[in-house]
Amino acid sequence: MFNALIVNKDEESGKTNAAVTHIGLDDLPDGEVTVAVDYSTVNYKDGLCIGPGGGLVRKYPHVPGIDFSGTVESSDDARYKPGDKVVLTGWRVGEAHWGGYTQKARVKADWLVPLPDGLDTRAAMAVGTAGFTAMLSVMALEDHGMTKGDGPVLVTGAAGGVGSVATAILANLGYEVAGVTGRPESADYLKSLGATQIVAREEINETVKRPLESEIWAGCVDAVGGAMLARVLGQMKYGASVAAVGLAGGAGLPATVIPFLLRGVNLLGIDSVMQPYDNRVRAWQRLASDLPMDKLEAMIRPATLSDLPQLGADILKGQVQGRILVDVNA
Ligand code: NDP
Repeated sequence: MFNALIVNKDEESGKTNAAVTHIGLDDLPDGEVTVAVDYSTVNYKDGLCIGPGGGLVRKYPHVPGIDFSGTVESSDDARYKPGDKVVLTGWRVGEAHWGGYTQKARVKADWLVPLPDGLDTRAAMAVGTAGFTAMLSVMALEDHGMTKGDGPVLVTGAAGGVGSVATAILANLGYEVAGVTGRPESADYLKSLGATQIVAREEINETVKRPLESEIWAGCVDAVGGAMLARVLGQMKYGASVAAVGLAGGAGLPATVIPFLLRGVNLLGIDSVMQPYDNRVRAWQRLASDLPMDKLEAMIRPATLSDLPQLGADILKGQVQGRILVDVNA
């Protein structure tokens, strides 16, 4: 027997309840690879799946946790053998399929990525889906021509998970980083990650009044969306790109097409869930080489399985700073 966070739903009231429960290997879903999970983390989607469901969970009882790292225990797939260190993000694991808030998980071999040298299972989940997505964003911006020396790169939602990792990677690569935050008390934290400029959320979170403003940013990792993204589009330098990652500030985009037409600005969509395997491997390798581990360490807030119901509620309220590292065996 082992521990898992199981969410049940009362069909009459529609209310969900999450509790750490003992289950056995026979309770796990089908899959080619059984993994002894070491770590998981808490993402916005996890907040939804631990709590009200948000339309993501189809079947109860459910084990949330959209990402995890661990060691292969048994495998029916030639690509994996017992003892291999692996990481899993995406593929709707933790939503449509049982996820990582458990000491053992059984999954499809196609969903796993072998951990690269230089990244252990603890670091992998300190990075998590948020950090992986931050890396995908930086790679997309570079693939579209962003280079050092072009000017400052903006990171929105900077004190959150995606924003923190994006800030640390960009600063480590030598970019000048400006972080947008709604929490002034996060300024020292963001500077410790390498941001040299802090932009107050209210300064940039206004509906667009003029479709084009002065050209400021050579690139942007945007975790916020909504009015902030619309405003940022009008502040991008000629030909620069914005990686649209998140919707912490809203799913709408009250913008005009003028920045695309007159400044050749690019809006790059970033999806981590269905990302092709080769690009996943590339991103994890880049994380091992480009994310300074001391900076990653500074972002970590440790947690256990029993902390998850509270942390799920906290992340839905935007009250989490940096990266929560869930040690499922603690
Ligand atoms: P976090 O909750 O850790 O961070 C989001 C940050 O956005 C907050 O810390 C806050 O930063 C800022 N923020 C929150 N509410 C608002 C608001 N109303 N207006 C403006 N800013 C706000 O989440 P993550 O970093 O894990 O994820 C960020 C976004 O990216 C989410 O929307 C998530 O769903 C999405 N995402 C998308 C993925 C993909 O594949 N495309 C993968 C992973 C995440 P601050 O306090 O500094 O202002």
